[in-house]
Order: sequence, then C-alpha cells, then structure tokens
Amino acid sequence: KDEHLTPFYDAHELAAKYYHYVLVETDEGKPAREYLRKRGFTQTAIDQFQVGFAPDSWDFLAPFLEKRGFLMEDLETCGLVGRRESDGKAYDRFRNRVMFPIHHTQGKVIAFGGRGLGDAQPKYLNSHESVIFNKSVTLYGFHQARPKMKKRNEAVLFEGYVDVIAAWRAGIDNGIASLGTAMTEQQAKMIRRNVDRVLLCYDGDGAGQQATYKNARILMDAGLTVTVANLPSGYDPDDYIQEFGKERFATDVVGNRKSWMQFLFDYFVIDKDLSLETDRVAYIESILTETAIIENPVERDMYVQKLAERFNLSQQVLREELSRIRSSQR
Ligand code: ATP
Ligand code: MN
Ligand code: MN
Ligand code: MN
Repeated sequence: KDEHLTPFYDAHELAAKYYHYVLVETDEGKPAREYLRKRGFTQTAIDQFQVGFAPDSWDFLAPFLEKRGFLMEDLETCGLVGRRESDGKAYDRFRNRVMFPIHHTQGKVIAFGGRGLGDAQPKYLNSHESVIFNKSVTLYGFHQARPKMKKRNEAVLFEGYVDVIAAWRAGIDNGIASLGTAMTEQQAKMIRRNVDRVLLCYDGDGAGQQATYKNARILMDAGLTVTVANLPSGYDPDDYIQEFGKERFATDVVGNRKSWMQFLFDYFVIDKDLSLETDRVAYIESILTETAIIENPVERDMYVQKLAERFNLSQQVLREELSRIRSSQR
C-alpha cells in the first residue's frame, strides 16, 4: 500500500551504504576516519551503526543516485539534495559530514544526522521531516536497541547519536536518543510498549538537566518508571566515557543512578541558595508540588519524612501543605 514510498526508502538505503563505503574504504574518507578515531569510534561501532561520510563535494551523491534511476525531484522531497535557485540544478545537501543513518521502527533508513568535522557550523545538519521521516515517532537507535531493551526491561535515553554509540561501546546496548528535540507523547508510548523503565542519561549541563525534568514527566505520564544517571556537570555521556573510561561509566554514572525524587532534590537546588529563608521555602514548595503528583501514598510519605528531617520541620505541617496542594491540583 505504501509502494509510492519505495524510491525514498531505496535512496536512503543506497545513500547509507555509499557513505559508509566512502568512510571505510576510500581516500576521501580519510579525514573522517581520522576524526572518528580521535573520538574513540571503533571499526565495530562504525559498522554496527553504519556510520558514513559525505565527502566535501556538491555533486557526489546526486549524480550517483541519478545514474541509478532516482529522480532528483524525489531526492529533494526527502532532503538528500537541494536545488540551486538560479538554474534549478541539484546539489548534495550533506557535504563534509560524518553521517549517522536514522532508522524507523522496522529498520529502514529514513533520514540522516550529519556531524561536521571539527568546528563546522551548524554542528549537526539533520534531514528535514518528509513523507518517510516523522520526527515525533522516531528515536535514534530504537530498531537495534529494541530486543535488548525488552530483555533488560529498560531503555537508556540519551541526547545525541554519539552518546548512544559511545555507550554501546561501553556495553550499554539498550540506548536510544530523542534527536535533540523535546520528547513527544508518541515516543514515550513507543518506549512504554517495550519496557517498564527508562534511565535518563542527558548531558550534564543546564539544558540537559532541564530536558531531563521536562521529558521525565512525559515518560512517567506514559506509565514508565524513571531514574536519572549521575553525570557530573560539564560532561555528556560521550565526554565522560572518553575521559574516565567505560568501567567508571558503568559503576559511577549508570550504577550510581538517582531515583526520580533524588534527582528533584538536586534539581531544585540549582537556582537557589538554601541558606536564604525565602529560597528554602520555595524549594520545599517545589518538592511538595512534585510529591503531590505521586499516586503511591507510601512513596509520598517517604518524601515528607525526608523533607522534615532535612529542614527540621514537623511532618504534620508538611502533610497539611501537601494535602492543600493536592486538592488544588484536582
Ligand atoms: P558532539 O559530541 O558530536 O559534539 P553532541 O551529541 O554532544 O555532539 P549536543 O550539542 O549535546 O551534541 O546535541 C545533542 C543532539 O542534539 C545531537 O546529537 C543532535 O541530534 C542535536 N543537535 C545538536 N546541535 C544541533 C543542530 N545545530 N541542529 C540540529 N540538531 C542538533
Ligand atoms: Mn547537549
Ligand atoms: Mn552532548
Ligand atoms: Mn558530545
């Protein structure tokens, strides 16, 4: 029934093979091989994720695919080529970039993420959405990770392609990434259909922590249990593995994960000075507001106890405030 989509899938499959071949086998691929080697990519990882390279040329892929019967119009539709305004001539959209093929759930290549070598801008150029690429139902690495996710009853969610691959080298084979964009409800449901738990492993910077907070809500609303990796600020998972190695990543970051509430206790501190009374009150309110959402009364009570101990407050007062918040949430 989706026969009219065949040329788009075929073009992506062929492009992925071609880019991979260029990276692994040719002289043009040398700068990219060097770049990836410095970043710790092994040949096995490059093969496993079919990483490729688009050479620094305006007419490398387009003529290759044209010779094989693909229509420039179709390639433009799915974002592989652009058109010059002046004369309508087709040109390659991805140039001088390391290419990460993005697959749909059934495993066909539907898009690419292209990483410029070094400081090229933009750092990542991604395929635009198209008839075959719907971002909101796509997760990088999902197809490959799915059987492993099921086996472990858990998915590990990263920000970037490189993080998924670095973690894979470290033995974490149930990793996926949300393509930089905010998590959608559909993506959360895709994950939920396969596992009960998600480990959030976003970058240890402000943006990463904010995305953790926002996306965790969406995941929990889909019925998933969320924990958060213990990544020091200033590192993303790939940086961490490069600097401290895969063993420490497994023990200190993944093994030493935080519960959702532990994460919140740290998260709400970030912009506050707890030696100030007003900040302390705001902090307690934030934690209680999150506690109020929790369904399980035993769990709620645990957090009340924690807060009471930490700030030397009566549990009675905190419980009253908690029920006030709960009734206002209804
Ligand atoms: P690297 O380690 O290669 O620098 P990264 O994954 O650490 O990459 P981040 O800046 O943390 O890069 O971004 C995380 C993800 O967000 C990327 O993998 C990519 O999917 C997306 N992204 C980042 N920058 C851009 C951009 N300029 N355009 C589109 N997507 C982007
Ligand atoms: Mn980031
Ligand atoms: Mn990053
Ligand atoms: Mn990175």
